[in-house]
Amino acid sequence: SALRSLPQAEAVIDLTAVADNVRRLCEFAGGAAVMAVVKADAYNHGVLPVARAALAAGARELGVTTLGEALELRAAGIDAPILSWLHTVDADFAPAIAQGIEIGVSSPRHLAAVVAAARATGVTAMVAAKVDTGLNRNGIAGNEWADFVDDLARAQAEGAVQLRGVFSHLAHGDEPDHPGNAEQRDRLREAVTDLRRNSLTPQVVHLANSAATVTRPDLRFDMVRPGIAIYGLTPIPELGDLGFRPVMTLRTRVALVKKVTAGSGVSYGHRWVAPRDTMVALLPVGYADGVRRNLSGRIEVQLGGRRCPQLGRVCMDQIVVDLGPDGGGVNEGDSALLFGDGRHGEPGAQDWAAMLDTINYEIVTGVGGRTVRTYV
Ligand code: PLP
Repeated sequence: SALRSLPQAEAVIDLTAVADNVRRLCEFAGGAAVMAVVKADAYNHGVLPVARAALAAGARELGVTTLGEALELRAAGIDAPILSWLHTVDADFAPAIAQGIEIGVSSPRHLAAVVAAARATGVTAMVAAKVDTGLNRNGIAGNEWADFVDDLARAQAEGAVQLRGVFSHLAHGDEPDHPGNAEQRDRLREAVTDLRRNSLTPQVVHLANSAATVTRPDLRFDMVRPGIAIYGLTPIPELGDLGFRPVMTLRTRVALVKKVTAGSGVSYGHRWVAPRDTMVALLPVGYADGVRRNLSGRIEVQLGGRRCPQLGRVCMDQIVVDLGPDGGGVNEGDSALLFGDGRHGEPGAQDWAAMLDTINYEIVTGVGGRTVRTYV
């Protein structure tokens, strides 16, 4: 195929794993619905195929950050409920209102902008109140809450908006025992009570990300809102295997096999010097593809049925790996796995995250540049 001739990195996306992970999340969710968070192009896995696979496997709704992401889903014919939650006040809300996108509002100004767009369109806007219960990031601040509720009650009475959801986001979701989780839960409950007191009754209340979904049944409300677990990565590595399977495999093919003689340095700065004659493989991936330069000399690549250490510096488009003195039977064109679900012995995105002192989210979203996505 045309893909076989492409030398660069390939992100293989396993949609069966997406479906299995969603089903597993439905089990964790108990009676609560699952909103699949597919923002940022489905954490860089490709929003349309992932959204379709997640909905087919039982996710009830989709969550995205921007109106553009939401409209892309609608344009592709996806008619499931979609919530979009991060906007500037001057955003063009009209197309999203017309397409039945639920708009998350985080201030009286956001609400006013949505109301104005709804009036201009002549369509009732579906909104979700994003309540700041303690993250102090996006969400309606405590000092603006009373005004927000008044404005919302008026706008709903007028028919400009309909409150559909009330939600919030956790500051300590990945620390299940942190007292902040219960505090945020209770503040969200109070917000819902306050809205009801003003004849504003949401259809769906939600708080839990992946971590809270798997650890805190008391945070589930009507719906859970997992992202990372859909992609098969664990939000809390210390919990061990939760039954999720990594969706993305980063692979490439050997561009060149050659001999390096004892005492020769490899790659920029000669940070690795061959202690003996050895065979090496050149792989056409580098930091432009998401193989971070800080991984230099630390990762291993699954190649020829074994783990081959990467040598010296990671370059923009290339890395070199050690095949050992006999070359291990590796040939130019052979497939090499950088990370994946471990089925073939390769490392996981979580292994890279640990080496880089970051979270697995950043590894999969960092894959990029020329990387081609294929779906299996
Ligand atoms: N809800 C909101 C508002 C988010 O911003 C995110 C992602 O950061 C999620 C849910 C999903 O979180 P996670 O990927 O940790 O499950």
